[in-house]
Amino acid sequence: MAKAQDLPIEALLREKRKFPPPREFARRAVVNKASVYTEAARNPVRFWEARARELHWFKPWRKALEWKPPYAKWFLGGKLNVSYNCLDRHVTTSRRTKAALIWEGEPGDTRTLTYWDLYREVQRFAAALKRHGIRKGDRVTIYMPMVPEVAIAMLACARIGAPHSVVFGGFSPESLRDRIHDADSRIVITADGGWRRGATVPLKQNTDDALKECPDVNTVIVLRRTGQPVDMQHGRDIWWDEFVKGVEAKCPAEPMDSEDLLYLLYTSGSTGKPKGIIHTTGGYLTGIAATHRWVFDLREEDVYWCTADVGWVTGHSYVVYGPLANGATTVMYEGTPDFPDKDRFWRIVEKHGVTICYTAPTAIRTFMKWGEAYPKRCDLSSLRLLGTVGEPINPEAWVWYWKVIGNGRCPVVDTWWQTETGQILITPLPGLTTLKPGSATRAFPGIDADVLDERGKPAASGYLVLRKPWPAMLRGIWGDPERFVQQYWSKFENIYFTGDGAKRDDDGYFWLLGRVDDVMNISGHRVSTMEVESALVDHKAVAEAAVIGRPHDIKGQAIAAFVTVKAGVDGTDGLQDELKQHVARKIGALARPDDIIFSAELPKTRSGKIMRRLLRDIAEGRTLGDTTTLADPAVVAALKRQYDED
Ligand code: ATP
Ligand code: MG
Repeated sequence: MAKAQDLPIEALLREKRKFPPPREFARRAVVNKASVYTEAARNPVRFWEARARELHWFKPWRKALEWKPPYAKWFLGGKLNVSYNCLDRHVTTSRRTKAALIWEGEPGDTRTLTYWDLYREVQRFAAALKRHGIRKGDRVTIYMPMVPEVAIAMLACARIGAPHSVVFGGFSPESLRDRIHDADSRIVITADGGWRRGATVPLKQNTDDALKECPDVNTVIVLRRTGQPVDMQHGRDIWWDEFVKGVEAKCPAEPMDSEDLLYLLYTSGSTGKPKGIIHTTGGYLTGIAATHRWVFDLREEDVYWCTADVGWVTGHSYVVYGPLANGATTVMYEGTPDFPDKDRFWRIVEKHGVTICYTAPTAIRTFMKWGEAYPKRCDLSSLRLLGTVGEPINPEAWVWYWKVIGNGRCPVVDTWWQTETGQILITPLPGLTTLKPGSATRAFPGIDADVLDERGKPAASGYLVLRKPWPAMLRGIWGDPERFVQQYWSKFENIYFTGDGAKRDDDGYFWLLGRVDDVMNISGHRVSTMEVESALVDHKAVAEAAVIGRPHDIKGQAIAAFVTVKAGVDGTDGLQDELKQHVARKIGALARPDDIIFSAELPKTRSGKIMRRLLRDIAEGRTLGDTTTLADPAVVAALKRQYDED
């Protein structure tokens, strides 16, 4: 008999709705010819070379790709600079006076930086870093709120070839300390604090706490943002204003090798201890600039807003580098979506005339929970395209987003990718692809994605893999080459394993099923958590759900569902039965949950992803695994108490 894990993941959810591109949208789209797929497939390297030529190179590459699995090098011998591509090449055109960055602080203060402004500020800060002795190759840790200076700091690092390691401002001193140690950086750029839900986050205080155990850090640059009192350590700490004082806004961009390190970034830690992902220069910029333009159908006049924090890869690739490389206007917001009220995001869209909005399923489900009244009272007519990333989006949330936010006019691009992939890999092209709610649809042109079974054969459902290298792919895990090989390259020979499960439908569309580690095994059937969660969220009383398999004597595993109900709904026994029935009816008796546990909140990473591994720890009475990336430890503690009582 086949081992349980050899069995395919069952495909239970059947979603039939289809949304072809609106005709007028398709007509004007950046990409609207299906031949892009076949042409790119015929010669992916040539396809990526054509994209790379859209950038500015100081020196052309000799060879487009060297592939010695698991290591790829792209555009060998080529020299370029990311900051030059994001700034210098725009200021010689009419984009010089175009808004590069529209920023809004949580208290309501705003700033707009033109390409010229940003060009000057980046040069000034870069020159100051150099004056201070920061050299090419030195790792710089950035721990800042979402303010223009975080982009300035990143671009300045890129300009002088000092790789940055941005640590999300919501992380604790311990998480910051670990990342400083791992990256071995000697300099930290931070702020006194940042605004969050009407209060301040003590970033400098956290930095001080972290640095108690980082003796090698000799410089801390502190931006004044909130004005809260901070301790400045003599000889180590310096205010941003002092740091740049008297420095000319002139700093030529360092010609970087295509394979030089651009940055390190730690993954969000949904599955375990975060990994320091290595991204380099030429291939990375090629991958993100192309995907940003094609996936978001970028036009010169767009006002593009990606709501991710720069602490995540989405913030790197699609708040800062992708949009600026394309000369776009990128919007940045400092605070939370519910301050001062739950309509804040929609107020921002209205105020700045946002045309493209890119956010996460967890945010969309929260907006659904809050209700339609908030977006309905804002003018969202400027929007023309919507996007999501971060988790599988359940069809109900997708349709809500399309209907309530997009008013049925705006295509929704569900983009699958990872910190490791650097760029979007599975996604619709909005002028071309017929959308299906809940499906990330197809691999981007030039990307060879597939779904394999345990033996490495193409299958209707199983493991999502990438067969060929792509330009923005990770070049390794910082300081841990063994983990790199073990994590991504040991399951199938010379094929990148994503860690995610997926299924494919008759049209070849990809449907992400969540992480394979989360897949449940119910009486010999492999059931994805995502499908049961989708069925639960499909019920009108449910706002969010997280599903896990808990040990069961007979079935192997039983399904335990942690459910958050919508505002005004009571979690009663009657509702428990109704939800079990609902799932059974929607996707089959096999997937009927054994336990429904009502919970006001679900444990999530700081990037908003549900941490099922902690729920499994609770259900199995184990001590909790790595909790450093958890957004709110109280949520898990409360759930643990509740679970132990039941
Ligand atoms: P860690 O690897 O440390 O556990 P993580 O995987 O959450 O953390 P990220 O790189 O931020 O870190 O997230 C990438 C993962 O997010 C993907 O592997 C996938 O599981 C999920 N994901 C991202 N976008 C989508 C999407 N559009 N549809 C489905 N899943 C998605
Ligand atoms: Mg991951």
